[in-house]
Amino acid sequence: MEKIQMTTPLVEMDGDEMTRIIWQMIKDELITPFVDLKTEYYDLGLKHRDETSDQVTKDAGEAIKKYGVGVKCATITPNAQRMEEYSLHEMWKSPNGTIRAILDGTVFRAPIIIDSIKPVVKNWELPITIARHAYGDLYKGTEYRVPEKGKAELIFTGENGATFHETIYDFECPGILQGIYNKDTSIESFAHSCFKYAINTKQDLWFSAKDTISKKYDMNFRNIFQDIYEKEYKEEFEKLGLEYFYTLIDDAVARVIRSKGGFIWALKNYDGDVMSDMVSTAFGSLAMMTSVLVSPDGNFEFEAAHGTVTRHYYKYLDGEETSTNPMATIYAWSGALKKRGEIDGLADLTSFGEKIEEACVETLNEGIMTKDLIGLVEEGTPTAVNTEGFIKAVRERLEAKL
Ligand code: NAP
Ligand code: MG
Repeated sequence: MEKIQMTTPLVEMDGDEMTRIIWQMIKDELITPFVDLKTEYYDLGLKHRDETSDQVTKDAGEAIKKYGVGVKCATITPNAQRMEEYSLHEMWKSPNGTIRAILDGTVFRAPIIIDSIKPVVKNWELPITIARHAYGDLYKGTEYRVPEKGKAELIFTGENGATFHETIYDFECPGILQGIYNKDTSIESFAHSCFKYAINTKQDLWFSAKDTISKKYDMNFRNIFQDIYEKEYKEEFEKLGLEYFYTLIDDAVARVIRSKGGFIWALKNYDGDVMSDMVSTAFGSLAMMTSVLVSPDGNFEFEAAHGTVTRHYYKYLDGEETSTNPMATIYAWSGALKKRGEIDGLADLTSFGEKIEEACVETLNEGIMTKDLIGLVEEGTPTAVNTEGFIKAVRERLEAKL
């Protein structure tokens, strides 16, 4: 068979630990035998990030802007223990955070669904995609422990003289305080990414917050979404038969549980953090969650939602057999190839990406799976395999399709 040709390189970002091992296996077994793979390679392994003073991460982010599509392996976010383990020069920032800041993107997470693993919520038939605004709010908040009786005030001093001054609370005893903010520009980017992704994936978009209580803060999110929708996306949504609506977050929770899935649920930063764990757990497994970062100007970065699976990596280093689930990392590759094919008008590349995914689902539906999924299967007797065994089983089914 002739290899499938590419015209534009993918931005390939290698990573750390167990996922770095899996990365190579996926390329060797599932991609390069069939595709004349063109990538611009960036080694985001922690050692190389340290050697380049993290310049490599910034370069990778810029490269995604240049080419439009990237695929990223999970990477270590350094902490004190990693500083020692890798003798780091600095506690480098989270690569995901750095790339997100360069692309100004929103993260969309969706579960891979298979027949043999039923979601905890029985009526969920289709994936629910969470769109989390990964900027500001609690995560950039300022907090204060109020030690004694006293007055807390909210003060704003504008560059051109605008001022605001209001009492938050007259404390009669010790307590706590928190100051949070967000920016219109960031909320606008979030909204654009959500509307674009909804059109791209042909799914309805829900946005929820608590504007009845937060009449300025949350209302600002709601208004920005509504304005942008009406000005720029309404026509396209109606043409495609898609729906956008805003609803209160408590109402959204009730609707999500009663739904059959198949939509995008956009949430503010904290809400998205909490709800994405709820949704992924209810669908089955973190190892089956895909993740894509979409920028408002239409760049895409595909990755797995999970981390570098450190516990398995240490076992692997000790020569023990591991059964790490490669599904989400395979889907990062298939997602990136499909998108590249779509952008470049290469139908066979897009179809190849689809076939990888079909081969994965068939493998799982035939009961061949990594250990993490075994306990979740309700019917039949599945066969546990290690990572390599799983990838080989996918390859057999993929070859049969080509
Ligand atoms: P993790 O790598 O997601 O793993 C947590 C646990 O979840 C694993 O120990 C394993 O459970 C299970 N698991 C996750 N993915 C799995 C898979 N593919 N197959 C089977 N089981 C899987 O999270 P972590 O251990 O908290 O973090 C490890 C490193 O990853 C950290 O250095 C962190 O900074 C980094 N991280 C990176 C990203 C990213 O790059 N996007 C995201 C999150 C974390 P069992 O041990 O019970 O089998
Ligand atoms: Mg969380």
